[in-house]
Amino acid sequence: MSSLNIALAAGDGIGPEIMDATLAVFKAAGVADHLNFIPVEMGAAQFAKGNSRGMSPDAIKTVEDCGILFKGPMETPKGGGGKSINVTARKMWNAFANFRHFKTLPGVHTVYSRAGINLDFAIVRENIEDTYGGVEHRLSNDMIQCKRLISAPGSDQVHRYAFQTARRLGIKKVHCGHKANIMKMTDGLFLERFKAAGKDFPEIEQADVIVDALCMNLVVKPQQYQMIVLPNLQGDIVSDLAAGLVGGLGFAPSANIGKHISIFEAVHGTAPDIAGQGKANPTALILSGLMMLRHLGLVKQASIIENALLAALEQGVRTGDFGSGEAAKPALGTKPFAQAIIDRLGQTPKTVPAVPPSEQAAPTFVKPERPQHQEVIRTFMNVVRHVTGCDIYLDTPLSPVAVAEEMQRVCADTPFKLVLVSNRGTQVWPTGSIFTECVDYYRVRFELKDEFRPGDFGQARCVALMDKIAEKFTVCSYELLRVFDGVKGYSLAQGQ
Ligand code: NAD
Repeated sequence: MSSLNIALAAGDGIGPEIMDATLAVFKAAGVADHLNFIPVEMGAAQFAKGNSRGMSPDAIKTVEDCGILFKGPMETPKGGGGKSINVTARKMWNAFANFRHFKTLPGVHTVYSRAGINLDFAIVRENIEDTYGGVEHRLSNDMIQCKRLISAPGSDQVHRYAFQTARRLGIKKVHCGHKANIMKMTDGLFLERFKAAGKDFPEIEQADVIVDALCMNLVVKPQQYQMIVLPNLQGDIVSDLAAGLVGGLGFAPSANIGKHISIFEAVHGTAPDIAGQGKANPTALILSGLMMLRHLGLVKQASIIENALLAALEQGVRTGDFGSGEAAKPALGTKPFAQAIIDRLGQTPKTVPAVPPSEQAAPTFVKPERPQHQEVIRTFMNVVRHVTGCDIYLDTPLSPVAVAEEMQRVCADTPFKLVLVSNRGTQVWPTGSIFTECVDYYRVRFELKDEFRPGDFGQARCVALMDKIAEKFTVCSYELLRVFDGVKGYSLAQGQ
């Protein structure tokens, strides 16, 4: 029988305990006949050896050869420049969509389960872009910046994945969560690409919702959602909120899906407070493993395991982190909890719908070819672009009027005129409010004088202007202002 190779990283803290339990359940359900788990070195031990990526070169090769990584939680070193291995892995291997499924589980009591409300919905979170690039700079004594990057092809990938998954799972309505009322260009693009991708999925109802309203709706009436797709940071926050609705992080599985490499892991961390005590709850990792089995085509085994898990939970089987109360059975340790699931393989739950059986019991997953080179993914091409000016960012404690006077002097004999000075995004010159407090970091916007037209000059004149300003001021950064097919590629200042 042919078997697939899966890279396996047990993780740190409770990782090895919950991974052992998960693999024991998988083995008992016959998964080992089809999957060959190859241990890889990732996590705290690798950081301790001075490996700043937290993974050995052999581990990287094995994950890339397998195309699938099943991982336990891993510790993020505090300080010292070590980045989160979890974020590194998702970004390095381009696992662009984070898929999380939130479902009411029997025996896991929440305010909704007590009210008889069954929840079953999914969140697809963009996994690579947004503020998670971690592109941060100190710009002045008092100002720090984090760049928020949203691309059209990055958004396209995640929206297409969301709609394809919705179609596969029979989900009838997908919402796009966003903050496009404020971040009109970045979240505006994310929303626009949602609508564009949705055109290929006409049978799926599509709607959008502003993220703050979404949070309230999720608390008040979560059952109105089936699938929500969100940008990275908003998705991160909203998906933890969603985990809370179904009983907490111990029940939240996740899949990080990429074109070539996908990573399956629980949402929770290493739980250092209970590590080594044999009492961690392996449910989230088991559920993440079930996502992996379905991704690989082992649907029959996944259904059998999920039904056994549901039956166990329904019968009051629990670890110490949930299900307490008068009627609760004594809490089990991680291993006996896994054994209780193994003992129920073949059973189905009685109080909640059982997962339908499937005959699909052999892998269907075909590992994509290794890319020959780093691909540049593109959405918009053949766009006509013309330079109209530049925004220059200054580190200065001067007043807005003083900044404006200096800038007008500098640009007098250039093709540009000063059109605005803003501070923290609010216009403070030529008009502004006396109540607007300023900090030591300004944006000065230059646009072409009236006698020139967009496209009369390239960017060299803007760089020359910046050079001139830099003789007297500290220029922190510079953004070119352009029109793209005649549409402004920049936002207006608040109050402009
Ligand atoms: P955490 O999720 O590890 O723990 C939060 C609380 O939940 C703790 O009280 C813990 O005991 C409990 N908990 C978590 N998982 C549990 C389980 N399976 N069973 C029972 N109780 C459980 O969050 P944290 O303490 O903020 O983070 C600890 C470490 O984990 C940090 O180094 C963090 O960077 C890392 N982390 C890793 C991942 C990942 O690998 N994907 C995710 C989140 C955090």
